[in-house]
Amino acid sequence: MPKKRKNRGRHKGDKGKEPMVYCDNCGKLVPRSKAVRVTVPYSPVPGDLARELEKQGAIVPRYYVTKTYCINCAIYLGILKVRSEDERKRKIASARPLVRRETVAAPPATKPAQTQPPTQPTQQGNEGAQTKS
Ligand SMILES: [Zn+2]
Repeated sequence: MPKKRKNRGRHKGDKGKEPMVYCDNCGKLVPRSKAVRVTVPYSPVPGDLARELEKQGAIVPRYYVTKTYCINCAIYLGILKVRSEDERKRKIASARPLVRRETVAAPPATKPAQTQPPTQPTQQGNEGAQTKS
C-alpha cells in the first residue's frame, strides 16, 4: 500500500497505544506523537518597553511556555508548512534535526579517543608478560 508519509504522520513506531493530548488552540484530542510541541519565550512586558527597561538596568523576566498543537492549528499558525511529495520524502525537513545531529555527532568523536588508550596499556601488559616469561 502506498504511504503518503514514511512514519504515517506520527512518531509512534510499533508502539501499540499512547496517551492523547489536547490541542492548546482548538481543544482537539490528538495522539501525543502526532501533536506538535513548541516552546516559545513569553514575556509579560512588550518588546520595546523591555529593551528600554533593560538599558536602564532593570531585569525583565522571560518565561518559556510549551504549547501543544494539533496538525491543523500548527499549519494555520505557521509552525509547520504543507510540503510537496518530494519534500516529504527527504530526510532533512527543517533546521531542527540538523542541530540535533550536531549534538549527536559529538559523542562518537570522543568515543574513539576513549577506546584508544586501553589498547596501549594492553600492549604494555603483553610486553610485561613477554619479559616475565
Ligand atoms: Zn488545534
